[in-house]
Amino acid sequence: MVDWRKSSVTNGGVHLAVFEVAGSAEPGVADPRPTVLLIHGWPDTHHLWTHVAPVLAEDFRVVAYDSRGFGESDRPDGDDAYRLSVLADDLFAVAEAVSPDGPVHIVAHDWGSVQAWEAVTRPGAEQRIGSFVSVSGPNLDYLADWARDNLSRPTPRKLGRALAQASSSSYTVFFQLPVLPKMFFSVAGTPAVWREFLHRVEGTPRENVVVADTLGDDMISGLRLYRANIRQKLRNPESRPTAVPVLEVVNERDIALRPAIFADTYRHAQRLWRRNTPTGHWLPYTRPGYLADVAREFIATHSTGSRTGTSGRMDRARVFSRPNPLSGKLAVVTGAGSGIGRATARALAERGCELVLADIDTAAVEETAQESKAAGASASPYELDVSDTAAVTDFADVVRARHGVPDIVVNNAGIGLAGGALDATDEQIDRLLDVNLRGVVSGSRAFGRQMVERGVGGHIVNIASAAAFTPQRTLGVYAASKAGVLLFSESLRAELAEHRIGVTAICPGIVDTAIVANTPIAGLDATHEAAERDRLAGWYRRRGFTPDRVADDIVRAIIRDKAVVPVTAEAKIGYRIYRFTPWLSRFAARQKVTR
Ligand code: NAP
Repeated sequence: MVDWRKSSVTNGGVHLAVFEVAGSAEPGVADPRPTVLLIHGWPDTHHLWTHVAPVLAEDFRVVAYDSRGFGESDRPDGDDAYRLSVLADDLFAVAEAVSPDGPVHIVAHDWGSVQAWEAVTRPGAEQRIGSFVSVSGPNLDYLADWARDNLSRPTPRKLGRALAQASSSSYTVFFQLPVLPKMFFSVAGTPAVWREFLHRVEGTPRENVVVADTLGDDMISGLRLYRANIRQKLRNPESRPTAVPVLEVVNERDIALRPAIFADTYRHAQRLWRRNTPTGHWLPYTRPGYLADVAREFIATHSTGSRTGTSGRMDRARVFSRPNPLSGKLAVVTGAGSGIGRATARALAERGCELVLADIDTAAVEETAQESKAAGASASPYELDVSDTAAVTDFADVVRARHGVPDIVVNNAGIGLAGGALDATDEQIDRLLDVNLRGVVSGSRAFGRQMVERGVGGHIVNIASAAAFTPQRTLGVYAASKAGVLLFSESLRAELAEHRIGVTAICPGIVDTAIVANTPIAGLDATHEAAERDRLAGWYRRRGFTPDRVADDIVRAIIRDKAVVPVTAEAKIGYRIYRFTPWLSRFAARQKVTR
């Protein structure tokens, strides 16, 4: 439990209950560290920050307050007393009282964030507010702008987005009705019901939900926020730019707010950062450690006197234009020095990812990194042999320490082996399985563990092959390695689903890369092997399917969280034949192919 020290601030005759985490400074002695101000939303109080505040208090002076109408603060009558302009006055009054000599850094949730937006968009706010971490609470002026834009020039997509948000916000209409919501909350507004509700809608651990004794009253009193502001703001949005650095923490599974509504914030906030995670609305309860880490990093970047110092990790979260679903994500790609891996790096760079690139060929991966940088991405090359499990584990540790836990991992590195299974050497088979199967398993395990521990999801892409479901007499061992990758990926997807980590198996057919030129063909002498390789390479070239098309499918699979993606016509057909007429696959496998 947090050791809160209570005091009071008065604004226009309204008493606001202010709570400071007992810090490293003695009572009465000024704490020199930057001050963080925590602001809750509906129907919470300062207790919302029970799990976040102690973590932030390790580096900052931490203060929270109950907004008017909630908890231990006064509850003035009438809706006008709850207009956003008045709530912003409260915020500045508390900031002035608790940190008269320096700016405060705000972390705010839900209606707390809505009122903080009102404050940071006041002219000159940057003198008083050093930074603002906004969690699940939009600027209502920007929201109105966004809705108008989507409805005034509607395309099916824009209309769909606007309707989706309207359906998510439908509860706010109920909240603005005169009598019904009061009756409802006077019966249902109990801590037990509220905990159960949060647990059912977004899996919030019941024991994490800490509420005030006043919860029922707060639910009813807080309805005035909806009545006083929503219609008024949506009807008459103002232009409200801000120069305060803002970090928007966007919860992709928020029951009340669709991520799309935050797409245009960059047009109003000059200094904007953004973090997307597949999390729900009550992040301070569900992932307090993650929220505290993200806030700590952001505040440290924008404050002087913080002990943590700054970190380059925030760089990739900066938003300069309309963000796409992958912008700001950290992506690891193995086998990035050539073919599909290089094309995937390029595709992710173009979508605003920060890249960590690995390959056994140092010069090749450095070249890919240079190419990615030229496309405007931050890219770091690493030498790695994915068949070496210890090296993969070390690599994962280095990535976490230098770059953070990745959001996307593409286990792409792979090699070929053709010819009869009986003709291959033991060494060839060991190498193939070590690279193609063990390498994918090791990469998935090392980074999967990090993603689970972080707790805010992620995506793992494993490159299998159409060979996984197209048996061929001269590709048996390669096919076995790729079938292993496919089944492993489908199983891992089931294992990690509860952690909101997606797993995709990509199964390309014939793609024109350097793989054939490096593929040993078992059972042939050197002269015949070279001739056969040339023949195969010519065939791959004529097929003409380029790796960038695979990369596009990889990107789509990540965004849509696909399980298995056959790429190329032959892969799509082969997948269906294997599933629906397996005898035909077996028959085709026996044929001697001359191309
Ligand atoms: P590629 O052009 O040869 O690229 C593969 C990259 O991985 C190369 O840079 C390679 O380096 C590197 N690599 C090889 N072994 C490695 C290891 N142990 N550790 C780290 N990096 C290693 O081949 P690609 O066609 O893009 O293949 C990428 C993936 O797609 C592979 O898993 C492959 O099996 C799969 N795939 C390809 C096709 C196709 O038709 N091309 C079809 C289906 C699936 P070196 O060049 O030094 O070996």
